[in-house]
Amino acid sequence: MNARRISKTIKIGDVAIGGGAPVVVQSMTKTDTRNARATIDQIKELQHCGCELVRVAVPDAEAAGAIVDIKKGIGIPLVADIHFDYRLALKSLEAGVDGLRLNPGNIGEANKVKKVAAAAKERGVPIRIGLNAGSLPKAPGPGLSVAQRMVASALEQIHLLESLDFDLIKISMKAFDVPTTIEAYRDIADKVPYPLHIGITEAGTPRTGVIRSTVGIGTLLWLGIGDTIRVSLTTHPREEVFAAYEILKSLNLRQRGPVLVSCPTCGRTEADVVKLAEEVEKRLQKIDKPIKVAVMGCVVNGPGEAKDADVGIACGKGKGVIFKKGKKLATVEEKDFLTALMKEVEGF
Ligand code: SF4
Repeated sequence: MNARRISKTIKIGDVAIGGGAPVVVQSMTKTDTRNARATIDQIKELQHCGCELVRVAVPDAEAAGAIVDIKKGIGIPLVADIHFDYRLALKSLEAGVDGLRLNPGNIGEANKVKKVAAAAKERGVPIRIGLNAGSLPKAPGPGLSVAQRMVASALEQIHLLESLDFDLIKISMKAFDVPTTIEAYRDIADKVPYPLHIGITEAGTPRTGVIRSTVGIGTLLWLGIGDTIRVSLTTHPREEVFAAYEILKSLNLRQRGPVLVSCPTCGRTEADVVKLAEEVEKRLQKIDKPIKVAVMGCVVNGPGEAKDADVGIACGKGKGVIFKKGKKLATVEEKDFLTALMKEVEGF
């Protein structure tokens, strides 16, 4: 795995991004931002799942006004997502938002961008220049690939903010197409010193979206690129946070909660290992400690194959072996598989 690209550090609220800080997990609410109560409830759930930074859509002045109440009810930094209307950015800043996501290109006249940059700078609030492949301006550059157009457009907008003496910048350049996204991020990573927010946009429903996001985000992280991530899924945002952590955990970039090792089952399996693994996974979601748990489908190969697990079970016909670090601990009846395993997990 490549060494991580060291960018400038920015702070969104009290969360450091870039400069070698841990990769930050973020998500976006799916409630109506004007409904502060519902938005707070969703953010609190995300926070509980490990979300470290949350973005809300700000489509109108009422939504911008709701930020005051939302901020009072949550414990993680809040980013306002603004399109087109610079007054919504100013109102969100007044309401105490910790970060802005906008596209200076669609804010319009330089004078409006200047006002937003000045107000953000005064409060020390970073701006994410958030480009999406689907909403790129036609110019610049006929004959350029989508990735090249994304980079050209990002550079233009970065230069605009820099010309206003504003450098609390974070950049994203997401596409649905994974190779395009990777190409765009690799290119911009070499050209600017700012932290990068990475993700695959409109990735889809969990079944396909998690895979698409994992390939894109995982490849970039492997290349050392990415300071904060969002997995975009057409479902409840808690699934985005779970998926984000699984990506980071699988690359050993972050630790959070348990890791479940489970065998795929095969012709040797003599118990309902699929059901057991699903139930264990559900219960592990309520556990915070970093523990590796294994659910294996046979007594012969199970403990050996999962020897680096902290605690595990190898299921045989009617009986199973509970093991710790690959060593046998006890033999239990089939009806006790789940309780016996969870008892060891909880006591670990
Ligand atoms: S652990 Fe046993 S049951 Fe599971 S896949 Fe391997 S050999 Fe098959």
